[in-house]
Amino acid sequence: MPMNNTAIRQYVQELIEKHNTCSPFQLAELCGIQLVYAPIKSLQGYYIKSSRIKIIVISTEADDAHLGYICAHELGHALLHDKINMHYLTTKSYFPAGRYEREADVFATELMLAGSMEAGCHYEDFSIYDFMRSNGIPEKVAEALSTYHTNL
Ligand SMILES: [Zn+2]
Repeated sequence: MPMNNTAIRQYVQELIEKHNTCSPFQLAELCGIQLVYAPIKSLQGYYIKSSRIKIIVISTEADDAHLGYICAHELGHALLHDKINMHYLTTKSYFPAGRYEREADVFATELMLAGSMEAGCHYEDFSIYDFMRSNGIPEKVAEALSTYHTNL
């Protein structure tokens, strides 16, 4: 079932409260998902589920500053799209993956925003676009979220 932005935001907030962390790396671990780093060039990361083992693969080629977002995006797939093999979906089929990508991006952005707010960031001083750019977050996601993040 598609999730709207508000529902995803709610889900992220509940996840943070339940596990008491905003770190996508810690959350992955706490949700029983393995993190693997591999020298893949075609993608920054992907999520796979094989024989009940859940794995987030992150490219060692990715920019260090973007690792949190990449992990958060794949965690979004792992938690929101558990039944779907995203790697297969995005690389081997013509099934439109757009909805799933959007949901994972919104999930990741909400998680990163929550993390930065907890760290004491205030958006009076810098724009959401600066935050997005420094974390490797697609700008289209910022536009989609700006409607209810009125303090951004
Ligand atoms: Zn994705």
